[in-house]
Amino acid sequence: MSIKKIALEEHFMAPDFTDYWATTFGNISPELSDKALGALSDFGARRLDDMDKNGIEIAILGLAGPGVQAEKDTTLAVKRAREVNDFLAAEVSKNTKRYGGLAHVAVQDAKAAADELERCITQLGFSGVMINGATNGMYLDDPSIEVFWERAAALKAPVYIHPNNPIDHPSMFNGHPELWGPMWSWGVETATHAMRIVTSGIFERYPDAKIILGHMGEAIPFQLWRIDSRWAIANRQGLTLKEPPSHYIRKNIMVTTSGVCSEEPLHCALNALGGDNVMFSADYPFERTAEASHFIENAKIDEAKRQKICWDNAKRILNLKV
Ligand code: MN
Repeated sequence: MSIKKIALEEHFMAPDFTDYWATTFGNISPELSDKALGALSDFGARRLDDMDKNGIEIAILGLAGPGVQAEKDTTLAVKRAREVNDFLAAEVSKNTKRYGGLAHVAVQDAKAAADELERCITQLGFSGVMINGATNGMYLDDPSIEVFWERAAALKAPVYIHPNNPIDHPSMFNGHPELWGPMWSWGVETATHAMRIVTSGIFERYPDAKIILGHMGEAIPFQLWRIDSRWAIANRQGLTLKEPPSHYIRKNIMVTTSGVCSEEPLHCALNALGGDNVMFSADYPFERTAEASHFIENAKIDEAKRQKICWDNAKRILNLKV
């Protein structure tokens, strides 16, 4: 069985961006990173063959991180974000039936990031934006970024928060390099970005703002009840919300299946967030597309839900004209 799919955590690499990317390798072997680089840099037969074999009709491409999230020079970060968006737009324009794009922005200068997002949506035809975790030590609820959220909401452009290493290296990871990275620390870090956005009231101020989390929601769907329960008695230091946190999580956060091929978290995400807020993704080339596709094609869910996960939700959330 093959069902037509849209996938949206699908990575690419641009020339001159590999130095930023190399900071995320950690304990990955040079052979593996070389192999990934070849796949990331290809927009032709190699990528399309992988998509064709697995029923992926459309791949929405985002830069493999961290990109300019790791650039200390703000002027350079703004300039390079623009360059990589132009690079991606040129590649997408060669095959608009199969590819779409997520913008790359430098929130070091939030006004510039907002302007660049607007350019990417209105002129380059992109579908949203991907931000690779913290920018120079700044989380995505930082007050300086407010103007960016305002614009993203106005453009109805979803913000995909992609994992990156935490800013600092807490003692809890000492002596356990295996937990530093995708196995554990990335999920904690990325979920924390989302929770900071929720509790700081960004979704209350900008009801049309949307974020997308990969990896079946970075464990947030599992925690909804506890989040609400403990919010009621938490030391909030002046933070207020009209509704409990789960209200905003359900309304403003969408998740993808990237990197998670397992029934239990899929059902948890569907039950917690609803069938309209879960989308298929493969995380090419870091995960196996065949495994991701086989999983969603055979998951024990009804066909109407499968259709929404594989196609309808992404089409609606990314405003795709297909
Ligand atoms: Mn990824």
